[in-house]
Amino acid sequence: MYIYRKDWIVYILFLVFFGFFSKITPEESNFIWPIDTDSIEQKLTSVFGESRGDHFHNGLDISSDNEPIRSIGNGNIIYSRYNSDHPFEGEFGSGNCVWINHGKKTLSAYYHMKNGRQDGLLNKTSIKKGEVIGRSGNTGHSSGSHLHFVIARDNGRKIINPFSVLTPVVDSKPPQIGPLILSIGENYTYINDGDNIRVSKPFPITVQILDTGEKKGQRRGIFEVEFTINGKTKKKNQFNEIELSGRYWKNESGLKFDELYFNGNYYITESNFESGNNTIIVKATDYNGNSSVKSFTFNVSRIK
Ligand SMILES: [Zn+2]
Repeated sequence: MYIYRKDWIVYILFLVFFGFFSKITPEESNFIWPIDTDSIEQKLTSVFGESRGDHFHNGLDISSDNEPIRSIGNGNIIYSRYNSDHPFEGEFGSGNCVWINHGKKTLSAYYHMKNGRQDGLLNKTSIKKGEVIGRSGNTGHSSGSHLHFVIARDNGRKIINPFSVLTPVVDSKPPQIGPLILSIGENYTYINDGDNIRVSKPFPITVQILDTGEKKGQRRGIFEVEFTINGKTKKKNQFNEIELSGRYWKNESGLKFDELYFNGNYYITESNFESGNNTIIVKATDYNGNSSVKSFTFNVSRIK
């Protein structure tokens, strides 16, 4: 069979494209949800990249009690820690946990599992996709039974948004953008469109953005926020991945937790504006591409 040279070029371009531009490895594209249920959309209570006070939430929380937890892909168990293995040590934050290596430097982790290791797990070298590795519980730093689930790359130096490799969940609601929040020490004041504010020195301005699922308690999460301040756009991705850089986890724009969040809300800027009208436009997009925009024009008076 003779293959035209033109076809070869197309074929090579295809390989190059998928080699360099596809962010998902073939293993990752076959991953399944770790809990086998048709109502996963109703069970997501916390998502990747959220603020946890002083750090990023690095996985998905799936509300679940005593349900079988399954390996999301083929792999090897590289680590499991059960409190019963360490009777004289305090419990770890992760509680009983299992880490699986799926090859190509991709790992998955399952936290807060119920006491009692799955039969045979300790001596197992390989694990099949869908195989039960434990049951959901409430061990470690956990309030309420749930699975905290993590997908990491580069042997754990990079943690990715599990939404980027798992089958999508229903999300038809756009993010909800609250008022701007001006924080003054422990106190705060809201800034709504049309307000007048009086400031003596720079204070942080933040905004609360929430993305629920079909019902209020369900979480979907913000994928991207964009702030435009007096016509100048500051773009921040939040988040598809976080990477350990020196001592800090940074998002893909290279920003640290403290540069993205303040007091649990999205950090925009400081209030060191000129006197007169100023405009901040907030745009938030969720993982399914639903977006919301809110514009705030407020009058600033500087007080000495
Ligand atoms: Zn969690």
